[in-house]
Amino acid sequence: ATNVGNSKENNGGVTRNLPVDAVINLDHGDPTMYESYWRTLGDDECTFVIKGYESLSYFSNPKNPCWFLEPKLEESIKSLHGAVGNAATDGYSIVVGTGSSQLLQAVLYAVTSHDQPNQINVVSAAPYYSSYPEITDLVRSGLYKWAGDAHQFDKNEPYVEFVTSPNNPSGVIRGPVVNGGGGILVHDLAYYWPQYTPITSSLEFDIMLFTASKCTGHAGSRIGWALVKDKEVAKKMTKFMEVITIGVSKESQLRVAKILQVIVDRCKCFGSPEGHNFFEFGKNLLTKRWEILRETVKQNKMFILPKYPLQHCNYTGDVTQAHPAFAWIKCKDGTDCEKLFRNHNILTRGGRKFGSDPGFVRVSMLGREEEFNLFIDRLSMIQIFNKGDG
Ligand code: PMP
Repeated sequence: ATNVGNSKENNGGVTRNLPVDAVINLDHGDPTMYESYWRTLGDDECTFVIKGYESLSYFSNPKNPCWFLEPKLEESIKSLHGAVGNAATDGYSIVVGTGSSQLLQAVLYAVTSHDQPNQINVVSAAPYYSSYPEITDLVRSGLYKWAGDAHQFDKNEPYVEFVTSPNNPSGVIRGPVVNGGGGILVHDLAYYWPQYTPITSSLEFDIMLFTASKCTGHAGSRIGWALVKDKEVAKKMTKFMEVITIGVSKESQLRVAKILQVIVDRCKCFGSPEGHNFFEFGKNLLTKRWEILRETVKQNKMFILPKYPLQHCNYTGDVTQAHPAFAWIKCKDGTDCEKLFRNHNILTRGGRKFGSDPGFVRVSMLGREEEFNLFIDRLSMIQIFNKGDG
């Protein structure tokens, strides 16, 4: 029997249906909501063709500190930051990675000194991105170790602080928090794009990480990039990649170069024609989803959502609030939200994994339309169920 719900999605001609009792996985931040934008483009507009004789070499540009960075990718990264105004690129070296996940490891290798007697502490303010502890401690490095919540760090020892802004999971804009300062700061700016948050300035931190996964939705291409002020740090990051994987796939780099260029070319005209501008598409869809989520939460009175301030976005010219990639939700009465949602076939990630209160859950807002609609349907049903229970 095809137990099909009323949740339908028209993905540029492709309509999918999910069974009403389907398990919906909103645990990962899989950015499939962007598929519907990319489907609206003509087949030739962002198709990337590579011939059998192309891109065989390990090398891309021996003169660049990152010798395996494809010049076309470098160019389109610079154009994109220039067009959006979210980060400076002049005077920076660009290091490409297999996702920004690999760059996080490369950074830790590059900023630690090999003759230090003890491992350097790695911290981030809770709630922090749940992969930081995993990435830091996976191979039990002799160079660095995970030291937990940056708010709690009070040792008089060297440290690296991951500053995630806007934050995953909570969506808030953040700065470093370790008292006294003096550590090495790594700014993870995966979500500092106009669809998620107002762009209030062009950032110029020493080490800034970005990823195509959350910018364009092309998570499967596995391309991230670091903007690095100090050439020696950029060289050491490159060395890490050289030893681990001898570079980053050229097919992926060239495809992402093409995708970024398409965004830049369409990005010059915010406001018209409708749906043309990638960031406008993303912002409109996330704004709509957040409005629906807030309305549902308001109706059932069971959950708490963060509030975000109104700010002027230099890119769109609007005064707007953030519409983050994740909803950071807490049950008002202290119920274990992850369990509650799991009982309603919604998979989320619990607060403990982010070094935070287990009452919280992180829910991806980046799924396909049908998944989001089912999530909202079930969220309203939780209310009915609980009211029925008295
Ligand atoms: N940093 C943050 C804050 C993230 O949320 C993610 C993806 N979830 C990453 C880094 C890594 O992304 P990727 O490896 O796909 O580039």
